[in-house]
Amino acid sequence: MKVLFATSEMAPWVKTGGLGDVAGALPAALRALDHDVRVLVPAYPALSKSFPDAEEIARPRWLNGLLPSPGLKQATAPDGTPLLLVDYPHYYGRPGNPYLGPEGRDWLDNHLRFGLLSRVAAWLGSTSSTVDWQPDIVHCHDWQTGLAAAYLHYLPGGQAKSLFTVHNLAFQGLFDHASLFELGLPDAAWNIDGVEYYGYLSFLKAGLQHADAITTVSPTYAREIQTDEEGMGMAGLLRHRAQDLSGILNGIDTREWNPATDRHLRQTYSSRRLEHKAANKAALQQELGLEQRDDLPLLGVVSRLTEQKGLDLLLEVAPQLLKLPAQLVVLGSGSHELEHAWKALAHKHKAQCAVVIGFDEALAHRIEAGADIFLMPSRFEPCGLNQLYSLRYGTPPVVRATGGLADTVIDATDARRGNGFVFGPATAEALLQAVHRATLAWRDPVLWRKLQRRGMARDSSWQDAAGHYAELYQKLLS
Ligand code: ADP
Repeated sequence: MKVLFATSEMAPWVKTGGLGDVAGALPAALRALDHDVRVLVPAYPALSKSFPDAEEIARPRWLNGLLPSPGLKQATAPDGTPLLLVDYPHYYGRPGNPYLGPEGRDWLDNHLRFGLLSRVAAWLGSTSSTVDWQPDIVHCHDWQTGLAAAYLHYLPGGQAKSLFTVHNLAFQGLFDHASLFELGLPDAAWNIDGVEYYGYLSFLKAGLQHADAITTVSPTYAREIQTDEEGMGMAGLLRHRAQDLSGILNGIDTREWNPATDRHLRQTYSSRRLEHKAANKAALQQELGLEQRDDLPLLGVVSRLTEQKGLDLLLEVAPQLLKLPAQLVVLGSGSHELEHAWKALAHKHKAQCAVVIGFDEALAHRIEAGADIFLMPSRFEPCGLNQLYSLRYGTPPVVRATGGLADTVIDATDARRGNGFVFGPATAEALLQAVHRATLAWRDPVLWRKLQRRGMARDSSWQDAAGHYAELYQKLLS
C-alpha cells in the first residue's frame, strides 16, 4: 500500500511533543512491513539544512483561494524513509517552535501555513497531482493536517482515502470565517456537516468530519473523547462517527530509547545489569547541583508545564514530596506562570529540587535513566510517551488513570503484573498518596527490582502498532 503521512512535526528535526516522535518512527515500522510510506512535512530550517540537495519534483498551483505555490522537494531520511518537503521559506523558514513566534504566541498566519501543508497532501492524493507516485491513503495527524481530508472531499479529483489520527483533541485549529476563502474551500464547506464550528473554521473538525476513518493514540482515550466531559466539544461528532473511530496505542523508538545503548547516559545498563543505573542517578544529581544522596528516592519529570500534564497539582504537593523525604528533578517548558512558580520552588530547596526550563532531549534521557521514580499526573493523556520511556528505563512511573497512561501502567498492587503506581482522582491528595506508596516500595529492594524488570520487559516497539495501522489501511481500501 502507498501511504502519505502528512505531518507538521517529525523527530529528530522538529518536535514539540508526541506527534514528532510518532512521525519520526511509525513510517519506518510500516516500511518494515513492506508498505510504501512517504512523509510530507514542511521544509523547516532544520530539514532544509539536513537535506540541502533535496530535488524539486513539482510545483503545485491552485485555481482558487490565496495560498501560494510551493516547491515540493524529495529527500531520503537516514532510516530510508522518503521525505516530501513542502518548500515555501516565507511560511516555513522560521527557526524554533513550528507553531509559535518568539513571544510564545501562535503565528498569525498558521491557517495559511498548515492550510498549505494540508492542501499539498490532498493534491498528492488527487488526479491533479503531477508527481509519479500516488498514495492510496493520505494519513493526516492532528489539526495541522485535518484540512487535507476536507480538500479531498470538496475539491474535484480527490481519490485517496483519508485517515485522521488525533494525538491531542485539545488543539483544534480555530480560525475566522474569512480563512475559508483564503484557503480555497467552497462555501458549501461552511456548515454544521462541514468545517464550520460555532462560527469558526476548525481544522480539527474538518479532519473528524471528513476523514474516512479516525484513530487516536490509545484505546482508553478513544472511549474518553466520546464523553461530554472529555470530548472537548467534539464528543457529539465523535459519537456519531464511533463506527469509524478506534484507538491504536503508540509505540516508542526503541533504538533511540534503549538504556543499554543510550549515548546520552553516563553509564548504560539493562534489566540484568540494573546496578549500573545508580551511576546515572549520581551523575544527574551532580549535573543539576543536587545533594549527592543515594538514600533518598529521586523523582523525575519531563513534561510540558501545563495543566493538562497536572504540573500545577504537582507543584501544590511538591513541598510535601520533598519532606517524604525525596529529591525532585523537573525538565519542561510551558506556561510562563508555571515556569516561574517551579523556578521559585527550586530556588527555595536547592539541595533537593532542580528545575530546568527548556527543551533538552539529552537531559530528558538522563532524567529517565537517573531518576528512581517518574511522575506523570496528567489530567488527560491521549497516549503519553514518557511513561513508556520510564518503564523501559527501569524507572517505575506514578500516573493518573487516564488515556494511554491507564492502558500501559499497571498498579503495583497487582502482584503479578504491576509495573508502576496508578491513582484515580486528579487531586493533590491522591497524587501525594500514590507518590508516597512509590517511595515506600522503593525502599523494598526485592519488590522494587520486580517492578523495574516487569516494566523493562514490556514490548513498546512500533511493530504492534504498525500492524494495526496496516490492517486499518487495508480495511479502508477494501
Ligand atoms: P505531549 O505530546 O502531550 O507533550 P508525550 O508524552 O506524548 O506528551 O510526548 C512528549 C515528548 O516530548 C516525549 O518524547 C518527551 O520526552 C518530550 N519532551 C517534552 N518536554 C520536553 C523537554 N522539556 N525536553 C525534552 N523533551 C521533552
